[in-house]
Amino acid sequence: MSLRTFHGGVHPREYKELTENCAFEVIPLPEEIILPLAQHLGKEASAQVKKGDEVIPGQLVAKAEGFVSAPVHTSVAGKVMSLGKQTTSSGFPKDAIVIKTNGTVESEKILLPPLNPETITPDEIRNRVAEAGIVGQGGAAFPTSVKLSPPKDKVIDVVILNGCECEPYLTRDYRFMIERPDDLISGFKLIMKALDVKRGVIGIENNKPEAIKIITEKVRNEEGLEVISLKTKYPQGAEKMLIKAVNGKEVPPGKLPMDVGAVIQNIGTAIAIHDAVVKGEVLTTAALTVSGKGIKIPKNLLVPVGTPIQSVIDFCGGVTEDAVKIVVGGPMMGVAQFDLHAPVMKATSGILVLTKDEVVENPETPCLRCGQCVGACPLNLIPTKLARYSQLHKYEEAEDADVTVCMECGTCAYTCPANIPLVQWIRLGKQKVLEMQRERAVK
Ligand code: SF4
Ligand code: SF4
Repeated sequence: MSLRTFHGGVHPREYKELTENCAFEVIPLPEEIILPLAQHLGKEASAQVKKGDEVIPGQLVAKAEGFVSAPVHTSVAGKVMSLGKQTTSSGFPKDAIVIKTNGTVESEKILLPPLNPETITPDEIRNRVAEAGIVGQGGAAFPTSVKLSPPKDKVIDVVILNGCECEPYLTRDYRFMIERPDDLISGFKLIMKALDVKRGVIGIENNKPEAIKIITEKVRNEEGLEVISLKTKYPQGAEKMLIKAVNGKEVPPGKLPMDVGAVIQNIGTAIAIHDAVVKGEVLTTAALTVSGKGIKIPKNLLVPVGTPIQSVIDFCGGVTEDAVKIVVGGPMMGVAQFDLHAPVMKATSGILVLTKDEVVENPETPCLRCGQCVGACPLNLIPTKLARYSQLHKYEEAEDADVTVCMECGTCAYTCPANIPLVQWIRLGKQKVLEMQRERAVK
């Protein structure tokens, strides 16, 4: 089996051993859930319930507004307590529906009519994915039905299923590959059918030999499907890096994977599509890893979307005395939390509780001009220059130096011996440049 990769990147300590052998557990229903109307990229969904309404599990509570949007369904039965701004794990308040639960069991959940995966048409798959509110489970939360509807002039010749899970600590996708390989392949075939693509590649980093073995065995007699073992390196799971490793193609700056004939989907997305088509389930459960040395009992969990982060932490025994930081997502691209009332969202992949020895807190020193950040940037950017332009408010120069191409992977900051928060500066510069570009477009 070949072992492929991309230029640059880093190999942080993995910490996968904390949870890789923890099978998914179902968390008990929380007392209250918080459902933000924007759990996806695109237009916010519009609320379909009002204060005082009674709801049952699976019920639509907010409908999609336009093509790039996604509906929201309640994961629990209960009463709508309020509609208004709530803190989210992104750090920004968002409009949300708060529901007090009444403990109704899973069997009372509303289901859509199951569909036959053998006879279903591409349009029926797209419609079902949209109706079920499925968003990309890799973190970006882009509405999946949009990704399954490329413009007619784009010829897609391969779908790549991202089994890299290159962020340290996270083992959610690994557990899906171990626990639900048949459902995963069923979902993957539905994705391929929706896109009318005959070649499907499942890319898995070589630190997951058990998953490679199981999935390889499962696709042995599946025409057009193959497993490719990839070198374990961060950010191998980033779309552009995955395409480079699998196909050898470069996605040019400002272009999308579909511009080089590829569509990438996440393992969890394939599972959600299988569940929506075959079982008629709408997306109301988040699968996530709770890990870090600061959580008393690390676990992989199936959590009702909307559950407060605090309830998830409590279910894992709480935090240790030396816990210093809580992050939603992975340690490289995740977001530090300041309010544990924020809810788990559809695309939440992990909650990490980190102790002092897991968090680098060395003081920042002047740049050593060592060039390590340049060598590590997988997109061949010059991070030190981009960060400097941002610090100096030189946004035109930052734009010329391709700051908007940066995918904010954090690799540069990770490698920097001077502890310069490169990615934070670059992110700021990128936001300013994007604002400038939006203003230019409306003039
Ligand atoms: S955060 Fe941006 S500049 Fe830094 S390594 Fe990643 S892509 Fe390159
Ligand atoms: S890695 Fe840090 S110290 Fe080295 S050149 Fe880049 S910014 Fe400077």
